[in-house]
Amino acid sequence: MSHHQAASASGGRNSLDPISILYLEDSPIDLEFSLSLLTKGGIEHSVTHVETEGDYERHLREGCFDLILADYSLPQFDGLAALEIAQRLCPETPFLFVSGVIGEEVAIDSLQRGATDFVLKQRPQRLSAAVRRAMAEAAEKRARRDAEQERALLLEKEKARSEELARVNQRLEQFAYAASHDLQEPVRMIKVYSQLLARRYHENLDDEGRQYVSFIETGATRMDNLVHDLLSYSRVSHMDAETMKDVALADVLRDLVLPLFQPALAESGARVEIDGELPVVHADPERVSQVFQNLISNSLKYRRDVAPEIRIAATRKPDGSYWQIAVSDNGIGFEKEYGERIFGLFKRLHSGDRPGTGVGLALAKQIVEKHGGQIWAESVPGQGSTFYFTLPSVSRSLS
Ligand code: ADP
Repeated sequence: MSHHQAASASGGRNSLDPISILYLEDSPIDLEFSLSLLTKGGIEHSVTHVETEGDYERHLREGCFDLILADYSLPQFDGLAALEIAQRLCPETPFLFVSGVIGEEVAIDSLQRGATDFVLKQRPQRLSAAVRRAMAEAAEKRARRDAEQERALLLEKEKARSEELARVNQRLEQFAYAASHDLQEPVRMIKVYSQLLARRYHENLDDEGRQYVSFIETGATRMDNLVHDLLSYSRVSHMDAETMKDVALADVLRDLVLPLFQPALAESGARVEIDGELPVVHADPERVSQVFQNLISNSLKYRRDVAPEIRIAATRKPDGSYWQIAVSDNGIGFEKEYGERIFGLFKRLHSGDRPGTGVGLALAKQIVEKHGGQIWAESVPGQGSTFYFTLPSVSRSLS
């Protein structure tokens, strides 16, 4: 491999290397003169000199040079043909005509066809500067192209990574779904039979035995809740566009949410107030009711020792495409730093005597995001929390 091939194969040239020149010229005197000008101009070079079309093309087929210099008018080979061959074989190599008198029209024509520059033999002192500029331009073009290629490569990698992530996620969701689905039955067996054991064999067990059975019962109930919540969580990913429709949130609350809380509200003296009008959104009513259920049951669960007050209000986003719904309470609240963590699966801040699986908010987040919305929370410990979520006001495809 000749040195000019090595240079082009590595995608660029070291600016300290002598530049490799393919020189098409039939006059040895002119050739020598041009090269001496380059040397004088401080441009180190190595030259391959050709005089015929055959030689010229053969060299280019073997590998590209850093620069091509060509006389415009050769006896049997015209400059434009040489230019055309160079563009076909080495489109990135700068190509300069070094020629005797040519008319202005011819010169312009050659530039339009892609020659980098031309230098008249009558004004040879321009040669070094023209070569320098051509080389700089070529280097810049190469750098730009490399950067573009790199960007394209990065984009491609990123795309592949996110596709892989989506696949992994999907497998995980399927796994969670299958696992929680299949666990329901055995968990229920343990729960039911431990309850039977506690009830029917109460007399046959001593205190210790009764305690063990009650531990099994507690464990089984907790597991049953977990499995149930996990199942609802993984079912969200199976949500499809068909269940989406225009729904009035006021109806959702009245029909699907508040009735469930009647006993709890009465018992705790809690109040749920709706501030102003609630909008019509484009959503799956069952899922949205689930979001409200989880938020309201949390507001009741994480209450202080005053009667819980829950407020629900909606505001329209400035561009009109989304509604923002706020559910606020006067409960125990949480520190700002936990504002994101609580939406993670199984993440709980307060446990102790407040039962829960840590799935509720993760499920709410999953549902809201499936609708293309967002969910977040603000809170002041000891004063209360507000949970916000957005839902599309108009029809849009599922995310
Ligand atoms: P769970 O209630 O089953 O623990 P969630 O996912 O519903 O699970 O909530 C996660 C955690 O966020 C809760 O354990 C609690 O610490 C905190 N949290 C949720 N809602 C509220 C609220 N309204 N006020 C204070 N803390 C809350």
